[in-house]
Amino acid sequence: MSRSVLAEKLIYLEGKPFSLDAYQPFRAVYDTKHPVITLMCGRQVGKSTSLANFLLTEGISIPQFRSLFVAPSKEQTSRFSNTRFAKALFFSPKIRRHFVTNDMPANNVMLRMLSNGSEFFFTYAHDDAERVRGISADRICFDEVQSIILEAVEPVIRECLAASQYKYRMYCGTPLSAENDIEVMLWQKSTQGEWVVQCGSCGGHNILGFQNLGPKFLICARCEKGPLDVRKGKWFLTMPDNPIMGFRIPQIALHRNVGTPEAYQSIMDKLRDYSKAQFNNEVLGISDSLGARLISLDMLKGLCHDYRWTEGLVDPVNMHNVMMCVAGVDWGGQSQTNVSRTALAIWGILPDGKLRLLFAKIYPSGHAIQDLDDIAQHCQRFAIRAFVGDSGEGMMANAQMRQKIGAHIVYGNRYVGQNGKIKWNKNQNDPGYQSDRTMILDQVMHGVITKSFEFPHWDQFEHFSDDLLSAYEETSLMNRRVWKHAATRPDDFLHACALGWLASKVATGQVIMYQDQLTIDPSEANA
Ligand SMILES: [Zn+2]
Repeated sequence: MSRSVLAEKLIYLEGKPFSLDAYQPFRAVYDTKHPVITLMCGRQVGKSTSLANFLLTEGISIPQFRSLFVAPSKEQTSRFSNTRFAKALFFSPKIRRHFVTNDMPANNVMLRMLSNGSEFFFTYAHDDAERVRGISADRICFDEVQSIILEAVEPVIRECLAASQYKYRMYCGTPLSAENDIEVMLWQKSTQGEWVVQCGSCGGHNILGFQNLGPKFLICARCEKGPLDVRKGKWFLTMPDNPIMGFRIPQIALHRNVGTPEAYQSIMDKLRDYSKAQFNNEVLGISDSLGARLISLDMLKGLCHDYRWTEGLVDPVNMHNVMMCVAGVDWGGQSQTNVSRTALAIWGILPDGKLRLLFAKIYPSGHAIQDLDDIAQHCQRFAIRAFVGDSGEGMMANAQMRQKIGAHIVYGNRYVGQNGKIKWNKNQNDPGYQSDRTMILDQVMHGVITKSFEFPHWDQFEHFSDDLLSAYEETSLMNRRVWKHAATRPDDFLHACALGWLASKVATGQVIMYQDQLTIDPSEANA
């Protein structure tokens, strides 16, 4: 029995048997056997309901199956677990009778079980995957993936699948900018399935989009007659050879959103009221142009001065007015999907608080340990007073830096939380700070905008400018600002600059060096 049929047989929604007739395009999603699925959804297409039913049906059909659901925030995850998943589980009589027993060991927001041994874990991850470590699963399902920083989260989460014979992955979300991960890392690598509707008048095939928006109903793009009956649509894979199975589900692919004059009018209202980007994202389910870029090439050029650095002796002219030097390093690494480079930034702190870039280097290898000696030598050359290197993957490298240049000046930094604070992180293996990623990267953007940085002559600095320009600002659907960069454009040097900024605050006593107790945000304590 296919999963879609099983779902319709077992699941009840609001007291009635669940029917996919109202969600036609989702039938293929339930039934595909492809191990990796991406859903690019408009708003109001029944995505959450479909995901909950999909996961539940899969757990019912495969005993001992372990599913892991990941959304960007705790609120989104508990809402999904409580209002979508638990409802389908407890309000479907057949499921309740056969798969829920009173003596089940756990059934709560973060873990639910069926009597056939299948388990469902619910957790959240935005830009760090600490909560996910150690969970072992057969399927991972990301929801609102456009607000998750996949680069940071996915390597850890993939570990969760390592022992599974299935290794199923599913990514669902609503598109945002054209540089968002959902577009670049998922959709562009997918089969890009489109819901194609044949015209009843001329027989033309329509991939649903802007060209189908008639004034009163959906029209054929070829003959401009209508209405199109989206219930008769079929999936067409535009890139069938790509490795991910992708489905785009725009609002207008669902009959309930376009099938009555009232419903269609609400689409027209959005066309009038929404920005073009919002309409594209939420109604048509397509990515729109770039997110806001706050800094430009001209701004960077405007910060360039007439000095140059060398790998040899430090030019005393460059050191004019410099009170002390600090360094930031973004350690590179290799994962299955990409090689990130190691980047070093050495800042000189000036009396007015400005920072002068005295030396920078990008190491292409992706082997942090190889580059250690060179980095240590440059740090000694400038007699740096504080060094901050990214923790986590860079923990080993930080440990070796302590041996080379002195434990008292080397600090780790781990991006955590979303509260705008810098806290002491009493990690025995890598003492240092934990900080809010957006807040830290803000400092670099802010420094450029307020002209608080000095860079060397453009012919030397140009090599580094791409990393700074690759960052763009995006407001996620959680209404949080986040700094992102296109998956195809590296930003290692941006992080090196940011960690160097943090080192400058440490060196000048503006961040406390340590505190006795690690403060824990109460909202994270019981996660
Ligand atoms: Zn037609």
